[in-house]
Amino acid sequence: MTHAFILNDETVLCRQTPNGWWPVQVQLPQSDIDITALSASDAQPAYQVSRVTLLESLAPSHWVVNDDSCQDKHSNPDKGSLIDFATKNAHAVTTNAFTAQAAIAITYDYAITHNVALPKILENSEVESSLETDACAFIAYRLLITQLPVALSGQLSQAIQLLRWQTDTQFCSRCATPVVAATRGERAMVCPVCRLRQYPRVQPCIITAITRPNPQTGVMQILLAHHHRYGQQKTSAQTLQYGLIAGFVEVGESLEHAVVREVAEEVNIRLTDIRYVSSQPWPFPSNLMLGFRAAYAGGDIVIQEDELSHADFFDLTNLPKIPFKGSIAYELIAQIAHEQGITL
Ligand SMILES: [Zn+2]
Repeated sequence: MTHAFILNDETVLCRQTPNGWWPVQVQLPQSDIDITALSASDAQPAYQVSRVTLLESLAPSHWVVNDDSCQDKHSNPDKGSLIDFATKNAHAVTTNAFTAQAAIAITYDYAITHNVALPKILENSEVESSLETDACAFIAYRLLITQLPVALSGQLSQAIQLLRWQTDTQFCSRCATPVVAATRGERAMVCPVCRLRQYPRVQPCIITAITRPNPQTGVMQILLAHHHRYGQQKTSAQTLQYGLIAGFVEVGESLEHAVVREVAEEVNIRLTDIRYVSSQPWPFPSNLMLGFRAAYAGGDIVIQEDELSHADFFDLTNLPKIPFKGSIAYELIAQIAHEQGITL
């Protein structure tokens, strides 16, 4: 028996539970075709696909998420016993690891076309007013990121990207022939005429947390910028949202070079001690965010006015509004604050 998550663009079919919205998996009817038995020449036409197999778990149990309890371990190696560490790590695994029952996702259109039985789905306008437990609705993935276990969130992120890739990859980009989905466990769209294979693309994007001690007080500061795309909040400058410097990696460029170039372009300062920290897939549309830290080395801030309206170093004890918890920007800022003994 196969179950599947149902997605519609960047929204996921969820059921309301006492703890919030939770992705539902609906039962799929028995398939007429055994996909695994198809030969390469019988590959499925792309337009019939809109169904993807996901990684069963994107957070294997040996991988411990770097949450606060783990940071305590690193910053206070003498604190607590080995048993405490084991308990904390076990806790981190159980709260962050998730193994899906079924690892399949389909689009809403696929579900309709294939007569998949769906629960009653609330319209957008009804979602706000409905407090009924068990109500089902399509919920934006952005709103789910902070609530779901990391691995489940990772699966849905993968589903959004793969389903969109299938939708957007229906013709050969070399000869314009309709492509077919490759079988034999390979994620590729294949041209039956010229054999060009098109794979899902990931776009690397660097994001950098730049620090320096406050020249007057010595308090650690972090560089934050207000982007035009965050919008202008006219009533009070206090509520403007700030973020880190970020940008796409250019063809032929190293990640370290991208960090230096983006920072020079956007705020005109020089960096030293550039270090990679961690990464986060970001399915809007298909980015891999690569998080770095760096130290300020010199130069006056001159903002790139096309992108930014303001940028400055802020004391970690007095930050403006920053990106939401769960985003890599928040995690980078929180890590630096934590090292300074500051809880956000
Ligand atoms: Zn072709």
